[in-house]
Amino acid sequence: MDKIEGLIGRSGFLGSDYKAKAEDIPKTIGIRMQIWKEYPKSKGLVLEEVYIHTNVEHGPKDSQFDVLIENIPAVQINEDKIQILNKYEDEHIDMIHTYAVARLTLTMYQRLLKRKIVWSWNQKGSNIPLKVYPHNNKEAMKHANFNKINRSLNFGWKDHEKRIYSCKSLDVVVHETGHAILDSLKPFWEIKRDFVKPQSFIEQHSIIESFADLSVIFFTLSLFDMVEQILVISKGNLKRDTQLSKLMEYFDYESYRNAYNTLKMNDEIIQSGRGHMMSQVFTGAVYYTLADYFTYKRNARFENDALVLYNVSQFIAKIYLKAIERSPDNGPRISDIAQNMIEVAIQESDFILAYILFKQFEFREIFVKKIS
Ligand SMILES: [Zn+2]
Repeated sequence: MDKIEGLIGRSGFLGSDYKAKAEDIPKTIGIRMQIWKEYPKSKGLVLEEVYIHTNVEHGPKDSQFDVLIENIPAVQINEDKIQILNKYEDEHIDMIHTYAVARLTLTMYQRLLKRKIVWSWNQKGSNIPLKVYPHNNKEAMKHANFNKINRSLNFGWKDHEKRIYSCKSLDVVVHETGHAILDSLKPFWEIKRDFVKPQSFIEQHSIIESFADLSVIFFTLSLFDMVEQILVISKGNLKRDTQLSKLMEYFDYESYRNAYNTLKMNDEIIQSGRGHMMSQVFTGAVYYTLADYFTYKRNARFENDALVLYNVSQFIAKIYLKAIERSPDNGPRISDIAQNMIEVAIQESDFILAYILFKQFEFREIFVKKIS
């Protein structure tokens, strides 16, 4: 017993004089917030609660995000009570939802990197949060974007009569937050049209779009209820056209993308298209890797599939982040990221994953070195 107490004390976990008492109730931290979710099994949006473990101030606001809608008062948050005003119910719920989704996306990546992500404009010491505008009513703001100059995420609307805001779509919020996160990791990947040749411009744009789309897949698979439903619908075979593979459906056919694809770099449609189009090649390669690696890792008889799928997805996301960190600070090519993913997997002694990645990139006509 003495030995155990000594160990507990040394770990600093409970302190050396730990004595359990019935009345010792741990302090509850964080806050419950609502987000709009679209479940694969049910139609339409459902308002569902999520747990945010950090402190949130009026706004909602914290050190990294500041949510605002013009002419709408901030949502008041006192302790863990959120005050939604009837008069502004629609706006306030969208403000809370957009904050919570952006916050959870950033938290997911910080957990993977095991460090705080600092926005690119704060990397010399300032501390200016990313402004989030869930309802950007400017006529020109049709879609959604990350605006680095204004340090903001902006969500426009469609349908003149109903004004459907893009922020309501969880994947649009994750996608745009993903842009800001990638910009923090690689500030010079921002595209300067004047200095790059058209081909490398499209490729760089596609790398950026692919990161934002893959963020949606990794984020979806970080929500346990979504993991369960995707497993039910796909019966464990992710190589299907499911809600997980469909990306940015809000934008209809115009910018709609699907990770469930067999596109290759030299396909005519890819070479003639924009970055959004080419991004699907890399996104597809990583998505198929996820599917194959999950098939390899699952052991349904003795392990919970949901837990395995969650772990597989987070592991691939980590490999991807490390590959990005190792890639050139300027003018990255798709093959840089691909090659680095394989090398990071080998470094992690995961030769199966390295092989699956290699086969996928080879199939997609993304140049990678043969594994010896
Ligand atoms: Zn984008």
